[in-house]
Amino acid sequence: MSTHFICRTCGTQFAASVEPPAACPICQDERQYVGYAGQQWTTLDELRREHTNRIEEVEPGLTGIGTVPGFAIGQRALLVQTPEGNVLWDCITLLDEATVAAVRALGGIRTIAISHPHYYATMVEWAQTFDATIYLHADDRAQVMRPDPAITFWEGETLPLFGGLTLIRCGGHFAGGQVLHWPDGAAGRGAMLTGDIIMVAQDRRYVSFM
Ligand SMILES: [Zn+2]
Ligand SMILES: [Zn+2]
Repeated sequence: MSTHFICRTCGTQFAASVEPPAACPICQDERQYVGYAGQQWTTLDELRREHTNRIEEVEPGLTGIGTVPGFAIGQRALLVQTPEGNVLWDCITLLDEATVAAVRALGGIRTIAISHPHYYATMVEWAQTFDATIYLHADDRAQVMRPDPAITFWEGETLPLFGGLTLIRCGGHFAGGQVLHWPDGAAGRGAMLTGDIIMVAQDRRYVSFM
């Protein structure tokens, strides 16, 4: 029986195979690492037994979804609500029934957009569950370990979505590294959702770029 194996170190889910993949190209890349114990694999079913997701409102229209206890890289996903549909910004590996119910209660997901390949996670599971499209920048096409018709690769520097949202290619950390501009965020002052492409410095007066 073939399985969509998941790398334990980066949380990336792979195309179905009978045996686990020989290696994880995301972790072998110098921007990630292979764990001290060597390459290890898990599955979504196994993950559902060991972990749950914590879902918390960050501000009106913005909800954080993170896995406890922490898994793989440990990022959170952010659900952005707009009157024209919701965007899941970045992705996490664990998708379980409780998360599906909570996200549906918030209006589901129209589109998934992910900053860079370290957060691709189980994006295809999320897309299939919520009947969502996925927007990735074409410059990171080679980093997709589970190709799927749900994925659209866009080219260029900016891509308007809906609800005022715009994807902006920043590059840097990855050639196709993208951020999301949300003009309605922060009570109308506007917000950038950036993954680790742009990070706020400790003193909160500056940002740094990967
Ligand atoms: Zn990996
Ligand atoms: Zn990264």
